[in-house]
Amino acid sequence: MASFCPKCRGLLIPGKSGTLVCVKCGGAEKRGSSSLGDFLPSDHDDKRAGARRGEKITLKPIRPGCDGSLSGYFPYPQMREGQREFVSDWSHSLGEGGILLAYAPTGIGKTAAALAPAVEYAKASGKTVCFLTSKQSQHHVAIETLRLMVGRCAKPIGVVDMINKQDMCPLPEARELFSKRFLEFCAARQKRRSCEFGSGADSGVLKDMRESLLHNEELVGYCEDHLLCPHKAGLEAAKGADVIICDYNYFFSDLSERMLEHLDKELGDIVLVVDEAHNLPDRVRSNYTDRLTVNMLKEAKAEANKHRDAAAAHHADAVIDALRELVDGGSPQDERSVGGIQLVRGIERFSNVQRLDRVDYKEIVSRLANLGDTVLSQGADYSYSYECARFLQAWVNDENPNGSVARTVRSDGDENVILSYFLMDPSPMCAPVFRNVHSAIVMSGTLYPMEMYRDILGIPKDRCLMREYASPFPKENRLTLVAKGFSTAYKSRSEESYRAMAVEIQRIAASVPGNVACFFPSYKLMEEIGGFVDTSKKLIREDRSMGKEQKQAIYRELVELKNSGSGGLLLGVQGGSLSEGVDYKDNLLSVVVIVGLPLAPPSLDVELTINHFERTYGKAKGKDYAYVYPAMNKVLQAAGRLIRSETDRGVIVLMDERFAW
Ligand code: SF4
Repeated sequence: MASFCPKCRGLLIPGKSGTLVCVKCGGAEKRGSSSLGDFLPSDHDDKRAGARRGEKITLKPIRPGCDGSLSGYFPYPQMREGQREFVSDWSHSLGEGGILLAYAPTGIGKTAAALAPAVEYAKASGKTVCFLTSKQSQHHVAIETLRLMVGRCAKPIGVVDMINKQDMCPLPEARELFSKRFLEFCAARQKRRSCEFGSGADSGVLKDMRESLLHNEELVGYCEDHLLCPHKAGLEAAKGADVIICDYNYFFSDLSERMLEHLDKELGDIVLVVDEAHNLPDRVRSNYTDRLTVNMLKEAKAEANKHRDAAAAHHADAVIDALRELVDGGSPQDERSVGGIQLVRGIERFSNVQRLDRVDYKEIVSRLANLGDTVLSQGADYSYSYECARFLQAWVNDENPNGSVARTVRSDGDENVILSYFLMDPSPMCAPVFRNVHSAIVMSGTLYPMEMYRDILGIPKDRCLMREYASPFPKENRLTLVAKGFSTAYKSRSEESYRAMAVEIQRIAASVPGNVACFFPSYKLMEEIGGFVDTSKKLIREDRSMGKEQKQAIYRELVELKNSGSGGLLLGVQGGSLSEGVDYKDNLLSVVVIVGLPLAPPSLDVELTINHFERTYGKAKGKDYAYVYPAMNKVLQAAGRLIRSETDRGVIVLMDERFAW
């Protein structure tokens, strides 16, 4: 097992007198110091932890570890069985210029199996590998894997690891600002040449930066010490990199064009590695989803009054009237579909009441946007006028291919009206990337079913190879049981059924040592059923507003409870922050109970999405794609918290009779 320096996380290699020497900071450690597996999620998720600790980061290019006598870049002496198959399929897709959809369970070693063939192919063909991930922990894993790979190859690997500009900015003000305000703050500093981190790095430094394989925290730390803008230096260094590690948004949002232009590349020059790809559809959806409310418009009107902008105040009133008209005659909570032009006409009509000079929708939006700019330029962190204008502008954007955007309105019964647009199907936004990229691997342990992911990500069928790999963990280490006689279906919900489920949970908790985690379909059901649970184990509840630190505290508490021999009973939510993306190491959980199915409550959004998918992918798939599979994926994610290594053992209890159907 590879070991890493506890100070800088550089690769440790054998030194004199039984010590290990860090290739990056040169520090010596006794053998047996921290290994890859020693890092808790808290370390992974701690953004810019290195920079905050005030460590001095030096550039020390990591030299290739062999003379070329070893073939390939694979960083370990041996491949696991599933890993060998994975590497072979991916190498084939790289050679053919195809897209591999890889459904690969935890433990198979996906990162190394994806990066080694990709880097080898890219270096031989002049392509650039872009490793896309939404999680900070995966940035660490990718960097650590690449450091190991350098030890196996005869040439250096140039790597740049980036996150978004605001999170990389070393100025303390950047932490406080709303994102739009930050972009203005940064642009103004650059224009006035007043940013103390404005100087550029020369090509030698950029090369050393790439070859030092810095994690984004270290890149920020180095740039801070040398008065460089980390984001700018990262982008500059990325131009000559073999591998760029970055967020999905660099390729799956409107940033994509600018990124490619900056790299002076086309999609055909890029090999994409999409990590934890089950998160990609929702990320793309969230980029094209927004809402506008009467309460926001009232705040925009208050801004207009404060700035004596009578026209903007009048327009805000007109938009409020148009929204109220859309829900007129309906009862509270009734949702309705809205036509794009219906709102535009309504706003124009109300804006032009008692006016001689007619204004059109474009002028109305522009007036609100100008007010927003004034508010922000005077130092406010947020402007309602700006946000309202941004929503109204997006409302009339042409980007609604195949009717994949739905528009709805509802009253919340308290004089507020909520107008929304949301992307039902991300495929029109993703298809251009997958059509034009040289090759891609789209990988996750939860791509169920693969056909759905291929469809909703717009991956061309003729380029796509779909493969599922077996778990490397012994089957006999996991027991899956269905507890019959329970259900969270709406018709089965009652105090009696909640009490019965609580008694069953108590029984399970009392019969096993260690920690038990119960994941519910919603916070409401967690409170209602959890309220009846009486247990001798320490009861720990997930909170909807829980931040990263509270999550880490829960993790540490579970470790202590397990070590003390008493154990805890964790109550959380499927699709919540404790049932996805947390690595419960060292058999931290003995049992995971999945209470009920997290099917979305009936709503117009769900109905519209089912109809859209039926029209696009066929009658039989509509309900499954929009309703059933998203719930099943939450179940799979939650159940996947149990077994995290080949020595972990435990039980999954599916507490809903519908799992037996
Ligand atoms: S130029 Fe860079 S360092 Fe300066 S404000 Fe912008 S992001 Fe921050």
